[in-house]
Amino acid sequence: MSKNITLTMIKPLAVQQGFIGPILAKINENGFRIAAMKLLWLTENQAKQFYVVHKERPFYNDLVKSMSSGPIVAAVLENENAVDEYRKLIGATNPANADAGTIRKLYGTSLEANAVHGSDSDENANIEAEFFFSKLESF
Ligand code: ATP
Ligand code: MG
Repeated sequence: MSKNITLTMIKPLAVQQGFIGPILAKINENGFRIAAMKLLWLTENQAKQFYVVHKERPFYNDLVKSMSSGPIVAAVLENENAVDEYRKLIGATNPANADAGTIRKLYGTSLEANAVHGSDSDENANIEAEFFFSKLESF
C-alpha cells in the first residue's frame, strides 16, 4: 500500500504544558515520518480560515479563540493510511472518551483543549498541509 499524509497540530495548551516532546515521541514510536514541521502562533483570522468548515457550529468562536491563544506545532506526517492510523493514535475528540494510551487521553485536558488536531480525510490533509507549508518546506 502506498504512503500518504495527514496534518497534525499540537494545540496551544499542550504546547504550554510541555507536551511537544512526548507527543512527537508517540508519533515517532508509531511509525509516522515527519515530512514538515513548524512552531507558529496563529492569528484569529488564520484560525478562522483553518476551521472554516466548522463556522456554523456553536463552538466555532471558542475554538478559534483557543487555537489562537498561543503557539502551536503544525506538522505533516507520512505513513500508510496516515489519516486513519493517526486518528486511531490520537483517540476520540473528547479526551474523556478516548482509549487508554491515545494522545488525547494522555495529554488532552478538555473537548476544546484536546492536545492535537488530525485531518479527517486525504483531501483535507492535502488542503491543510498546503495551508501551513510550501513545497520548499516539505520533504
Ligand atoms: P480535529 O479536527 O481537531 O482533529 P475532530 O475531527 O476529532 O478534531 P471536529 O468535529 O473536527 O473533531 O472538531 C474540531 C475541534 O473542535 C475538536 O478537536 C474540538 O477541540 C472542538 N470541538 C468539537 N466539538 C466540540 C464541542 N461540542 N464543543 C467544544 N469544542 C468542540
Ligand atoms: Mg476534525
